[in-house]
Amino acid sequence: MRTWVYGVVFSGLLLGLAGCGQQPGGAAQVPAPQPQVAPVDTKTAEAAKTEGEKSMSAEIPPEKLPQTEDEWKKILTPDQFRVARQKGTERAFTGEFWNNHKPGVYRCVCCGAELFKSDTKFDSGTGWPSFYQAAAEGRVKDTADNTHGMQRVEVTCKRCGAHLGHVFDDGPEPTGLRYCINSVSLKFEEKK
Ligand SMILES: [Zn+2]
Repeated sequence: MRTWVYGVVFSGLLLGLAGCGQQPGGAAQVPAPQPQVAPVDTKTAEAAKTEGEKSMSAEIPPEKLPQTEDEWKKILTPDQFRVARQKGTERAFTGEFWNNHKPGVYRCVCCGAELFKSDTKFDSGTGWPSFYQAAAEGRVKDTADNTHGMQRVEVTCKRCGAHLGHVFDDGPEPTGLRYCINSVSLKFEEKK
């Protein structure tokens, strides 16, 4: 009797292992985009609830903004933290918004500040969401970035310092700028 039970459990383990082994490449890619949306919505909902300001914008009030990277780590997904707080970069064509053509606004994934609008978004062919202008003056901050052997201009959220991406001067008119932004640093609010 015992031997039979162990046999069944053992076979089950083997089958389980074999199942995992069949998708060596796919396993890492598929789950990545999913956690980006849900935890952020939950976080914003909680912020709204505690504030009792559900009609207000999705911005986290200044006094509720995390003060340390450890605090950010607790409310962001690992991908969001790596890109937005540690200046990482998502792989091209893997993000949620590079191919999003819906009308709406793009907010900072960390603090909820309105950063870009869909009517300034364009297809850059880079695989990252690209805009020729920020949503308003003073929403993003430009800083020289000479890491990785390149001279680039880093773009961060002026409100909370989140790393968003880089800005280049090969964009379309009327600004000639190309804000090349990581999807994972943004959350999209569709306008209906
Ligand atoms: Zn922010």
